[in-house]
Amino acid sequence: MNTIQKLAILADAAKYDASCASSGATKRNSLGTGGIGSTEGMGICHSYTPDGRCVSLLKILLTNFCVFDCVYCVNRVSSNVRRARFTPQEVVRLTLDFYKRNYIEGLFLSSGIIRNGDYTMEQLVEVARCLREDHKFRGYIHLKTIPDASPDLMARAGQYADRLSINVELPTEKSLQQLAPEKSLPAIRAAMGHLRWRIEETKQERKAARGKHKPPPFAPAGQSTQMIIGADATDDRAVLDSSVNMYNNYRLRRVYYSAFSPIPDASSKLPLQAPPLAREHRLYQADWLLRFYAFDADEIVPRTDGGTAMLDLDIDPKLAWALRHHEYFPVDLNTAPKERLLRVPGLGTRNVGKILMARRHARLRLDDLSRLRAPLRKMLPFVQVLDHHPQKLLDDADKLRARLAPPPRQAALFA
Ligand code: SF4
Repeated sequence: MNTIQKLAILADAAKYDASCASSGATKRNSLGTGGIGSTEGMGICHSYTPDGRCVSLLKILLTNFCVFDCVYCVNRVSSNVRRARFTPQEVVRLTLDFYKRNYIEGLFLSSGIIRNGDYTMEQLVEVARCLREDHKFRGYIHLKTIPDASPDLMARAGQYADRLSINVELPTEKSLQQLAPEKSLPAIRAAMGHLRWRIEETKQERKAARGKHKPPPFAPAGQSTQMIIGADATDDRAVLDSSVNMYNNYRLRRVYYSAFSPIPDASSKLPLQAPPLAREHRLYQADWLLRFYAFDADEIVPRTDGGTAMLDLDIDPKLAWALRHHEYFPVDLNTAPKERLLRVPGLGTRNVGKILMARRHARLRLDDLSRLRAPLRKMLPFVQVLDHHPQKLLDDADKLRARLAPPPRQAALFA
């Protein structure tokens, strides 16, 4: 099998992994320092999927052979797919070739488990080592790590990679036991805890070193994970609870949500249909509210007695919260503190900053809001300025919801 054939198989096999954004990397540039590449700058191709995921990395698997049998995964040992395997040197060569042609800004490398966790991790680390040490590659590297790999291999991975990730895959221990019995949530969490400790310890040591010899950075862009949505019956509240746990306890930079895609010869344990893509999108919005808007999971998806707690697919979670809490509105844009402004549907963190700045100089009016490039139709029912008082609109939450939700669509007879 030639390299192009392997690439076709292993790039396709990697597409199910959502966690590839390069945000948070340290600024590193080969200009004037020798070597090749940078984590920023002009001339690097960027491509983003509609939900904001960066796809400008060379995103491949080292191999799609795997000794595990996770039922949701197209690469599981019992799956009847074409298999391929790169050598570490082949991945290095491809990365450098694509980088020099300006197709990519870095490498996202994952792998099926071959032989065992340590052996697989050794191969992944060798790719990163060779790029960094032999070729002085300064571009972005994201390595997927194997939870049961030895701490020594994890340490080496963090030395070369900008970001490390360990996929938690499913939100609960119960669903892992059902769908990925060879994986264990405690082992995944222990590995995340270890990475957190190494990342923070290295940061402290580097800070303390000041002018003295600084230890090398360890995974400076932190760690992330991915959860598959819709492969099991877990509701959105449990998904968000799991994310909150990982953000708080393991200081993850990102949790990525990947809507389950049905696979060929699927197990009867899996649903026949993929969840609506809107569910993935709503979870990303909810995740944003948790991290940047000081919402907690209970506000975003309140628990219901015994029922499943799901996000509203028709309207975004911030608007859904506002419609449940009309007593909180209207928010006076001329006087409200930042925390209240952040709760207004349609107002993002950047526009909140602009409002805080603008009102230092003058009392805001409707005309000022039109300069924000914010969705005024969504925002106006919830805010008041000198010449706008929407109290009447807020009195009828159902009518307001009908006005702001997208119109219902006729279902197709033949999907
Ligand atoms: S370990 Fe990873 S590659 Fe292997 S079957 Fe499970 S999810 Fe797929």
